[in-house]
Amino acid sequence: MRDFVFNGLPSRVVFGAGSLSRLERELDALRIGRALVLSTAHQEKLARRIAESLGERSAGVYPRAVMHVPIETARAAREEASRRNADCIVAAGGGSTIGLGKAIALESGLPLVAIPTTYAGSEMTPIYGITDGGIKRTGKDPKVLPRTVIYDPDLTLDLPLSVSVTSGMNAIAHAAEGLYAQDRNPLMELAAQEGIAALARAIPELHQAPRDATARADALYGAWLCGMVLGNVGMALHHKLCHTLGGSFNLPHAEVHTVVLPHALAFNASAAPDAMSRIAQAIRADSASGGLYDLAKAHGAPVALKSIGMRREDLDRAAELAVSSPYWNPQPFGPAQKVEIRELLQRAFDGVRPD
Ligand code: NAD
Repeated sequence: MRDFVFNGLPSRVVFGAGSLSRLERELDALRIGRALVLSTAHQEKLARRIAESLGERSAGVYPRAVMHVPIETARAAREEASRRNADCIVAAGGGSTIGLGKAIALESGLPLVAIPTTYAGSEMTPIYGITDGGIKRTGKDPKVLPRTVIYDPDLTLDLPLSVSVTSGMNAIAHAAEGLYAQDRNPLMELAAQEGIAALARAIPELHQAPRDATARADALYGAWLCGMVLGNVGMALHHKLCHTLGGSFNLPHAEVHTVVLPHALAFNASAAPDAMSRIAQAIRADSASGGLYDLAKAHGAPVALKSIGMRREDLDRAAELAVSSPYWNPQPFGPAQKVEIRELLQRAFDGVRPD
């Protein structure tokens, strides 16, 4: 057994089909008066349904969450919350909506209740991101960690299959890197392996039957565990590459994670053999990197950066940016490894299957 330090994050999780109906009781437990409900424009119907169910305790709906949390949106939403005397924010949706809730919580100190409808995992972390003048600033603050998270698989039944697969791979990426994190601990390793296994089981089932209630519950359960890993331990090369590609080249978040993960794991394979064998075991494959590539490809997800909007001429700059401010990684990478990272990106660009 390795030595470890475990500093658990406080969070209350309510999980189960139909658990949205418990929202009001959860607000009572937090002694909350009036909640402003956030969503994207696409999920406004859900937000209105939630607001209606709260009756007098609804401070209205703010259905303007968008990708990357522009600071202007965060400011406007915060003013809306204050104008309507809200003493709580309820964020119903994926990472973009929960991200907006976090930005409000950061400045106002209002408690956040999250109702996730994708597998991105933001609801389990104290990490926030706000985009100001085209640059995404990220940080960590306990204020932004949702007080209560309601996981209701019924709300994911209509998540399009393509998004379900890439969002599931995004969740797996958190757990995979958690297995070789510098500050990993036995509890998060258990959560990571179980989370990967639940998602790897659910993805093929959802591919067969996207509205299957058991598979939806399994996937959301996996997402919870993977999100918990992301919130508790540090991420490495894979997340660095995805932040670079998403932030500087505007590539879609979950798809980038899906494409890059097998290649980042291949790069780390010899430095983190235990993590690789736990991932391979969880997905029932011979190798972590090849197995995850196959899982994505077999279920219709993209496996090449060139198919999700990356331009070949930007690969040099992407490698440069990634190595210029590296994260800790089991296989060190920095300016001295620029050639290897450029080669990794080329393989991800072309969609070559790693071993
Ligand atoms: P998203 O929130 O942008 O959602 C994508 C689209 O799917 C939106 O139009 C949304 O309305 C729609 N959608 C969501 N749930 C749906 C459902 N059940 N049915 C139908 N449509 C649905 O995408 P995401 O992948 O969840 O989140 C990505 C963002 O989250 C990125 O900006 C990323 O940086 C951030 N993120 C942050 C953290 C963190 O810890 N801070 C962790 C993971 C992701």
